[in-house]
Amino acid sequence: MKIDVIIIGAGASGLMCALECGKRGRSVLVLDHSGSMGRKIRVSGGGRCNFTNLCVGAANYLSHNPHFCKSALSRFTPADFTALLDKHGISYHEKEKGRLFCNKSSAGILSLFREECTRYNITLRLGCRVSHVMPGNGFSLSTDHGVMESRSLVVATGGISYPELGATDFGHRLAGRLGLKVFPVRPGLVPLTFSEQDLRMFRQLSGISLDAEVACNGKTFTENILFTHRGLSGPAILQASSYWNRGDQIEINLLPHFDIYEVFLGHRQSRRELHNLLSDYLPRRFSLLWCKIMNPSRQLCCYSDRELRKIAALLHAWKIRPRDTEGFSRAEVTVGGIDTDELSSKTMEAKAVAGLYFIGEVVDVTGELGGYNLHWAWASGYAAGQYA
Ligand SMILES: Cc1cc2nc3c(=O)[nH]c(=O)nc-3n(C[C@H](O)[C@H](O)[C@H](O)COP(=O)(O)OP(=O)(O)OC[C@H]3O[C@@H](n4cnc5c(N)ncnc54)[C@H](O)[C@@H]3O)c2cc1C
Repeated sequence: MKIDVIIIGAGASGLMCALECGKRGRSVLVLDHSGSMGRKIRVSGGGRCNFTNLCVGAANYLSHNPHFCKSALSRFTPADFTALLDKHGISYHEKEKGRLFCNKSSAGILSLFREECTRYNITLRLGCRVSHVMPGNGFSLSTDHGVMESRSLVVATGGISYPELGATDFGHRLAGRLGLKVFPVRPGLVPLTFSEQDLRMFRQLSGISLDAEVACNGKTFTENILFTHRGLSGPAILQASSYWNRGDQIEINLLPHFDIYEVFLGHRQSRRELHNLLSDYLPRRFSLLWCKIMNPSRQLCCYSDRELRKIAALLHAWKIRPRDTEGFSRAEVTVGGIDTDELSSKTMEAKAVAGLYFIGEVVDVTGELGGYNLHWAWASGYAAGQYA
């Protein structure tokens, strides 16, 4: 029997698409090789799922075509998702910067999808790996549960980051095999590692976090940064990492809210030690170690103007050239993927293969940190769900 729609991937985008197809009375089968659905939803936002952002807009996404996501985003808004949560009695709150989190656990969102799938008679088959897809009068899928046939096929297999949560490159490989262009992928929202030389100096700062402004390739983020035993992490670094390419330099303003040179001038005749003064603005342990590493601390009155300017420049524009990222195993998202020029922005259908849809992270649309990636998964799943 031919099913109307098969969706490969029971993650955020696949589940949303399944509901929308189900609402239209389509017979829907969702396949996933994992033993449970929505594994990334479960772990997202530290288990509380940062499921959307009140400020969602095309500017929060990285893509070779920054306009592509506009259509889907305009048809599925944060209010559409919170209406679904309200319907299921799931409470949530805004943490900061428009980021919405569940009050309890992300498990509530998974229950929501389970209930909605039952309501619309959607069949979920877990532990089912798709190995091959043949288009032609619909689609024929070879799986370890036998051959399955459908009129429409939606590929919602996500990016390749966090393979232990089920991520594969299946969607990218399938698109490539069917002649669709796929941009090279790289890890995004990922910690950066120090060069060997920097690691020797800055390893001792491990565990310290502070607010900073991180700039990379024309993008600037002001949030927390965290020194790790391998390099740098924290929200501002994760954000910048999505724009970072191997060999690029990043610039960190360790004191984004003050002009430290002005502060130095106010203490020009002071006998206070530099590290002591810096501790008024930075964590004490950081000030002590930073002075030890970069500029042995003296009394402020003992520095020349030139030296103070140099110290201020180091604090406001600390330039580092990371060695690498921590890779796909630690990346929240995959940057790159299926070229949006191959897809309709209205329906997410492949222009060259009728009835074939690609949604979610497998597409070359990557959100910044803050609920934007899940929102793209919902919005693109919703868009395809109106047509598949
Ligand atoms: C640790 C972590 C935390 C995150 N936190 C947030 C957050 O708080 N907010 C936010 O917006 N985003 C967050 N993200 C990103 C977000 O989870 C993803 O962008 C989003 O889940 C992508 O949805 P998707 O449907 O495209 O893919 P996924 O949710 O990854 O779903 C893809 C599904 O396809 C299945 N699959 C893959 N290959 C096959 C195959 N060959 N056969 C069958 N099934 C297959 C997988 O098992 C998986 O279930 C986080 C990601 C990670 C890793």
